[in-house]
Amino acid sequence: MHTDPNCIFCKIVAGQIPARKAHEDDEFLVFHDVRPAAPVHLLLIPKHHVPSLAEVGDQDLPMLGRLLALAPRVAREQGLGGGFKLAVNTGRDGGQEVFHLHLHLLGGKGG
Ligand code: 5GP
Ligand code: ZN
Repeated sequence: MHTDPNCIFCKIVAGQIPARKAHEDDEFLVFHDVRPAAPVHLLLIPKHHVPSLAEVGDQDLPMLGRLLALAPRVAREQGLGGGFKLAVNTGRDGGQEVFHLHLHLLGGKGG
């Protein structure tokens, strides 16, 4: 699996940095954002290192589909059956701070 030793999310995947996990399987990890912008604010990441949405390749397309499909399942588990928002900050001008692909899942009142 491709990892970047300097990447904070790769370190979370490796268990080197603690995170409050909401879901984990072979391919993906979902954990609570440390600075939540909504009552429920999760980050959905592939376990292997992809820097950003702008750098996905054809080989990543099935993973992207599964990642997107994971969002409503995790949302339901978090009590967000009524709906949620997804955001993918992409690139420096897109507000991306952590260069390991992630979906922000925001929900709850004010989400
Ligand atoms: P970005 O701006 O790259 O789309 O979002 C990165 C997000 O990661 C931010 O919302 C930030 O709060 C979150 N974050 C950064 N470092 C950590 C960390 O060590 N643990 C957790 N749980 N979230 C983090
Ligand atoms: Zn990474």
